Amino acid sequence: MEGRRVIVVGAGIAGAGVAFALARRGADVTVADPGLPGQATQASAGIIAPWASTVEGPLYDLYAAGAAYYPQVVGLLAEAGVLRTDYRRTGALVVHEDPAVLDEAQARAETRARASGGVAGEVSRLGGDDVRALVPVLAPDLEGVFISGGARVDGRTMCEALLEGAARHGARRLTGAARLLPGGGGMPRVVVGTDEIEADDVVVAVGAWAADLLEPLGVRPGVEPQRGQISHLRVEGHDTSGWPSVHPLSHHYLVAFDDSRVAVGATRETGSGFDVRVTARGQWQVLADALRIAPGLADATLIETRIGLRPLPSGGLPIVGALPDRPGVHVVAGFGAAGLTMAPYVGDALARAILDGRAAPELSAFAPR
Ligand SMILES: Cc1cc2nc3c(=O)[nH]c(=O)nc-3n(C[C@H](O)[C@H](O)[C@H](O)COP(=O)(O)OP(=O)(O)OC[C@H]3O[C@@H](n4cnc5c(N)ncnc54)[C@H](O)[C@@H]3O)c2cc1C
Repeated sequence: MEGRRVIVVGAGIAGAGVAFALARRGADVTVADPGLPGQATQASAGIIAPWASTVEGPLYDLYAAGAAYYPQVVGLLAEAGVLRTDYRRTGALVVHEDPAVLDEAQARAETRARASGGVAGEVSRLGGDDVRALVPVLAPDLEGVFISGGARVDGRTMCEALLEGAARHGARRLTGAARLLPGGGGMPRVVVGTDEIEADDVVVAVGAWAADLLEPLGVRPGVEPQRGQISHLRVEGHDTSGWPSVHPLSHHYLVAFDDSRVAVGATRETGSGFDVRVTARGQWQVLADALRIAPGLADATLIETRIGLRPLPSGGLPIVGALPDRPGVHVVAGFGAAGLTMAPYVGDALARAILDGRAAPELSAFAPR
């Protein structure tokens, strides 16, 4: 529906994804965000490679759909004149010292790659020398499974690209925290700073802050902050631009970017609350895990450690769709550790649902209850 007024609260990847999808379909979009410390998107590692993960069920389906949608959304941004996303398919490399563990990962990735419509690319087994030819800093006892369609994206650049894409389709951006206050007819009043924003729909895309925002409406979405600490290293003398992301089949990983920079991480600190400090234990854990699989990073320069608060859903699944008794209030929250992958796809489906006035079937497993 052209001209439908939608306020998107939150400008992380979830809000940016839905704002772009709404604006390019002609909706009248306003995005509000105060830029709180701890935004998950700015800290994210940037891995877009779900196929070897141990995630199953509807969450895997959404994760895989999200990865498959990336080339499409990058194309849509280019059509809108936004060319820089820092999305690149450099492959994903699963590493382990136990060949039996790699057998299992390979079988899982091959099955999923066949179902991916070509996005996952080819899956191949690599011996130790081939693994180190791809990523020279890795430990000598590691062998690997290479998935050629694995990609990485800079979360900050991608989020800004979606917001810029939305702006090129007419979206407005406000700097400030929104509040939702009970209003008549199920639609809350939306206040940013001292201004009340007139809207037909509101999209709650505030990540780990969802419970705070919805509290005045008596809604408890079951999302809590989970701190992630992730460190960026400069690896002088290495051209890292073509390195695949590296996955030792744990929560730990390594992602390279173009400027001899490698991100290693990350902690998963459930119960952290909104504490955005770099801690001694977190820093130690991130570096110890990194050096265990990549001893060649020992002399790298530690550039910075980023902190992001993942929106951890208590039910294990993201929450996406209109609130049951408030059809004008749409939630997109609880992306946990994989929101960078899923958000553009989910944002597109949610935008269609808002503008068509009916729930998106591909999101039915994630509807708020
Ligand atoms: C260390 C780390 C590594 C990760 N790596 C990956 C990865 O490799 N691949 C992947 O797919 N995912 C990854 N993730 C997960 C991904 O980053 C998150 O799932 C995703 O960024 C969540 O996006 P979001 O928009 O829901 O939340 P956020 O990015 O946290 O954005 C929420 C926004 O809401 C705003 N806000 C809060 N309150 C208000 C208010 N009252 N009014 C207006 N705005 C408000 C905040 O300022 C913030 O900007 C990683 C996360 C972390 C922390």
